[in-house]
Amino acid sequence: PKLVYDFAEGNKDMKELLGGKGANLAEMTNLGLPVPPGFTISADACKVFLKTGSVPAELADEIDHHVAELEQKMGKKLGQADDPLLVSVRSGAAVSMPGMMETVLNVGLNDDSVNGLAHHSGNPRFAWDAYRRLIQMFGKTVLGMEGDVFEDAIEAAKQAKGTKNDLDLDANDLKALVENFKAAVHEHTGREFPQEPRAQMDLAIEAVFGSWNSGRAILYRRQERIATDLGTGVNICSMVFGNLGMDSGTGVAFTRDPASGQPGVYGDYLQNAQGEDVVAGIRNTVPLADLETIDKTSYDELMAIMAKLEGHYRDLCDIEFTVERGKLWMLQTRVGKRTAGAAFRIATSLVDEGVIDIDEALRRVNGAQLAQLMFPRFDSEAGKELLTKAIGASPGAASGKVVFTSAAAVEAAGKGEKVILVRRETNPDDLHGMIAAQGVLTSRGGKTSHAAVVARGMGKTCVCGAEDLDVNVSAGKITVKGKTVEAGEVISIDGTTGEVFLGEVPVVPSPVVEYFEGKLAADSGDELVAAVHRLISHADDVRRLDVRTNADTGDDAARARRFGAQGIGLCRTEHMFLGERREAVERLILAEDATERDAALAVLEPLQRGDFVELLDAMDGLPVTIRLIDPPLHEFLPPLTELAVKVALAKERGEDPGRDATLLAAVERLHEQNPMLGLRGVRLGLVIPGLFAMQVRAIAAAAADLKKQGKDPRPEIMIPLVGAVQELQLARDEVEGVLRDIAEAEGVEWSTPIGTMIELPRAALTSDQIAEAAEFFSFGTNDLTQMTWGFSRDDVEGSFFSRYLEKGVFAVSPFESIDREGVGALVRMGAERGRSTRPDLKLGVCGEHGGDPDSIHFFHEVGLDYVSCSPFRIPVARLEAGRATL
Ligand code: ADP
Ligand code: MG
Ligand code: MG
Repeated sequence: PKLVYDFAEGNKDMKELLGGKGANLAEMTNLGLPVPPGFTISADACKVFLKTGSVPAELADEIDHHVAELEQKMGKKLGQADDPLLVSVRSGAAVSMPGMMETVLNVGLNDDSVNGLAHHSGNPRFAWDAYRRLIQMFGKTVLGMEGDVFEDAIEAAKQAKGTKNDLDLDANDLKALVENFKAAVHEHTGREFPQEPRAQMDLAIEAVFGSWNSGRAILYRRQERIATDLGTGVNICSMVFGNLGMDSGTGVAFTRDPASGQPGVYGDYLQNAQGEDVVAGIRNTVPLADLETIDKTSYDELMAIMAKLEGHYRDLCDIEFTVERGKLWMLQTRVGKRTAGAAFRIATSLVDEGVIDIDEALRRVNGAQLAQLMFPRFDSEAGKELLTKAIGASPGAASGKVVFTSAAAVEAAGKGEKVILVRRETNPDDLHGMIAAQGVLTSRGGKTSHAAVVARGMGKTCVCGAEDLDVNVSAGKITVKGKTVEAGEVISIDGTTGEVFLGEVPVVPSPVVEYFEGKLAADSGDELVAAVHRLISHADDVRRLDVRTNADTGDDAARARRFGAQGIGLCRTEHMFLGERREAVERLILAEDATERDAALAVLEPLQRGDFVELLDAMDGLPVTIRLIDPPLHEFLPPLTELAVKVALAKERGEDPGRDATLLAAVERLHEQNPMLGLRGVRLGLVIPGLFAMQVRAIAAAAADLKKQGKDPRPEIMIPLVGAVQELQLARDEVEGVLRDIAEAEGVEWSTPIGTMIELPRAALTSDQIAEAAEFFSFGTNDLTQMTWGFSRDDVEGSFFSRYLEKGVFAVSPFESIDREGVGALVRMGAERGRSTRPDLKLGVCGEHGGDPDSIHFFHEVGLDYVSCSPFRIPVARLEAGRATL
């Protein structure tokens, strides 16, 4: 198979083969945009390299062929002494991994051709600068040398010259640096810097392939849930030069603001610079708008190209470009990353501009972004001490102790502390620290700096370019306008406004939450709220899944209803047995005969009845699924050891332990090796006489009360942990009897569907039988996951799950996102078999998965009727249920 593609041979849809960068370079080439000629080596070649340790045998010939073509196009040859062809060797995977992999510029220069380049360009300083960059990048990327070796040498050269500016180093200084660098290469590797251009190219290609498996790339992929076996393409691109003088330069641009979504001119430009200079924060960039005065022709052309690209990709694009002596070159484009808020606003403005339709707009936002927009923000009313204001690069409100290194961030986070990672600038090695921190603050770089790009990708709060911040890492302090902040002191950063405050600032709810709460109207003038309103309304129009909530109290239910809940999918009754009621529960458990038991139940019943009135009233007219008691009884008694100690102490003091002794005996009697698999759920109901009946009486009496007030209570009774239809039938008989009695006694009628949780594999497997006794199923995917994998959730997540994730057993915890193949297959089967018995069987899901975007798409696919999730996740579930239909 073909391994190498000329830029003219590819297109934007060939990402998997060519990588995103290669596919988009090809697309731009074919759009007739000024892209320096080149070719792309496919990710297939990389896969072979990663598997076997060497590139496919036929690759060398194919590269030869494309190099020859390139040489002909450019009218110069690799290594040509008087006017060498130079190329960049650039990584580029199917999924963008900014800064994670490597690129080497100026490949093809050597001791001879550097003189040719100097002569031909008439600019010796430029030629030597290009050569020192090649050796530096090659040393780091290909030869695995420490970057400091080179950076320290540059620093020393600048100091000797008494300057802080790279541009003050002249041709001779740079020539001396080159000698210096070559010696360093020899010292570190025992070999000379390779002079043969093709050897440089081949080594760089292999290094790019190898960088797929660098530690930081692996970490990034895990964080972003990117597959481990995609491999990267390699782009060989003829060089253009932004470092030929002040009429040259390099920059990055966005077709609109990636932080807010506003149209306008956004980007950074740096004159007389190459490659990473713009994002590395080495010198201060100017805003892109300034390019208009620096070089109007290039600026106008760039604006025209950006408009063309946005029209073509029908989305925000980000762009890397270079100006070589007044001529504009396009080096990269892609559909750009953006903040959550920008995603909503861009999607709806593109609808208004007639570029995309509302379905497409809904496809372009997601639940994770909506969840981010619901985070609280800093209280504008609160007293604050402003330290400085810089660039808000990734929104959010974060407070934490100042740390200066990634290691410190990781360590503190491990102890449960909140930290803000403060750096001059971040680099890919800081990824660990950025993940661990609440937020990131840098003193250099703009919205396109590493810190900004990575933080936005992670949804982490980031403020960057705080230039009046003097970050002194070795002294462990920041000075700003005469004030000093030491490591360990708390600061707060606002990623929307770019403000940095001393101390912890209180937070207020987000306007998006206020909108969902009904406190802020959709047309109040807040553009973000308006965009969210439009897209979630569209999701509501198209979705088939209902969204219910998990709620145990009237307050939760009322809030969930404001958020759009269409009922309660799971009300847990356990909490109704806690607090002051514990004593009655203890008496129930200790009861030695029917009289004592009935007395205890009689205390509990009216209390429960009050709870249900509140809940059913808050959800008047909507279904409320109430699960009868589920956990093992010993959870309602004091812990075994505590009691044992108490009793032993009393005895030692010669006192009578009294009731504690009785309790201890009960705890010992109820003790189980595996409570999760023990006396709980329906088993309790069948073994403890009167327990379920008491709960059902309370539910029925509450419904009767409301009914008499003219309300519309819709309770549904759910029996937990059923494994066999016989269990359900027994429980059902008891429940139906009580319901009949109360309805008769109270003289009112309403219907109460009776159903079950499907949370044991056996229940899923025999769901055709179980459906005979159930009017609805609710898949309890938490327990179903535990029981299917044999994982005790409370034990395994904190113990070996991180290893499992590392080793790729799964890419995400099956408790977070449904395991489609295993647990999901049981859900699918349960739904199909259940409906084969009872076609109008109502199917829902409760458990964490009900609020997880991927899982919601799965539940839509298998035909469930509703998902149920915690109140705060409801908007996310509504949005994703809508997206699932597109
Ligand atoms: P990354 O994926 O980290 O952005 P790139 O391959 O895009 O890496 O290279 C980084 C930068 O190097 C580019 O933004 C551009 O400024 C510069 N660069 C890459 N190839 C060339 C080239 N052929 N000519 C000039 N500059 C280049
Ligand atoms: Mg790039
Ligand atoms: Mg359960």
